[in-house]
Amino acid sequence: MEKRQATNIEVKKNNRNRIFRYICKHGTVSNPDISYELKMSLPTVTQITKELIEKGLVKEQGELQSTGGRRAKALVVSAGAGQAVGLDITKNHISLALTDLTGELLRYERMFFPFAATDEYYQEVNRRLERFVEESGCEKERILGIGISFPGIIDLKAGMAADSHILGIKDLPLSAISRFFAYPCHFLNDANAGAYAEGIRSESGNRFFYLSLSNTVGGAVFGGGRLEQGDHFRCGEVGHMTIIPGGETCYCGKKGCLDGYCSAKRLAEMTDGKLEEFFKELEQGNEEAAARWEGYTSYLAMAANNIHMVLDCDIILGGYVGSCMGGHIRRIQDKVSGRNTFAEDGTFVKHCRHKVGAAALGAALQVVEMFVEQV
Ligand SMILES: [Zn+2]
Repeated sequence: MEKRQATNIEVKKNNRNRIFRYICKHGTVSNPDISYELKMSLPTVTQITKELIEKGLVKEQGELQSTGGRRAKALVVSAGAGQAVGLDITKNHISLALTDLTGELLRYERMFFPFAATDEYYQEVNRRLERFVEESGCEKERILGIGISFPGIIDLKAGMAADSHILGIKDLPLSAISRFFAYPCHFLNDANAGAYAEGIRSESGNRFFYLSLSNTVGGAVFGGGRLEQGDHFRCGEVGHMTIIPGGETCYCGKKGCLDGYCSAKRLAEMTDGKLEEFFKELEQGNEEAAARWEGYTSYLAMAANNIHMVLDCDIILGGYVGSCMGGHIRRIQDKVSGRNTFAEDGTFVKHCRHKVGAAALGAALQVVEMFVEQV
């Protein structure tokens, strides 16, 4: 008897969660819509949405057009049900993103603020974050938490920022960072954050590899609604796979890592660190830009093809370069196709969907997802 009861409770929780997710994802919906799409009886759906309204998670907002009979009440996620902030820390900048339960990027800001491993640094980041929250018109008590995207290995088991060459951090307890903020903090690696933004609400739900091409190169595997972490939280760290034996010295100290050939800096160093300018020059037929792009894409195609050989899934190009390259992706697809043993056409290499603030948004979305999971 007890067991049956537990099962009924689980079924109800599961239904409630599916319905809430459906409303979060589809914006304005009605009970009959939900009933039809999720194949649940209308009385069950009506009962559950009533509960969600009582909890303040969903609200009625007018009526939907109908082709006949009674007009259905329009249901939307309540704006005040919860919001999350994403903070992306990089060597020279911080980025802030705000989202709510719909997962939309509501506000985004990127500012020059070089990293320093000092209390003053985190205090100032906190001040800027609080100002961002205030200017967004958020009520502080509606903030579910902060997702912090960080360019290094996050050991979730040990609760440590285990390693960040780029910031010069090793074995730093996450609590040493979170204590500066007034909200619950959830950390993830920057490439993981980008992959999370790309994958968590995608239509296809297919597994993919996210190749983050920013001032450092990283990657992440996303599938089945979650990130793969690996045994040591280093899954997808392709920036340090050897692409040219004995090649360029990487910031990690080894020679020939992919990072040395495919970081955004490799292109942007031609245009004073401005990547958008590089692509403008490329479009205007600048020969130096074209030569750099040829070199860059050859290494990138090699890497993308190798990763595809291991994982046999789409390779999403993200980070600064993935966001800026536009139609130039075709050169990479051609080169990948040229390398591919199975005569694939290279279209498994794709653009990222989120071209602005992907890491900050992904970090915030993880907080949203943790909340939605327990509804
Ligand atoms: Zn390296």
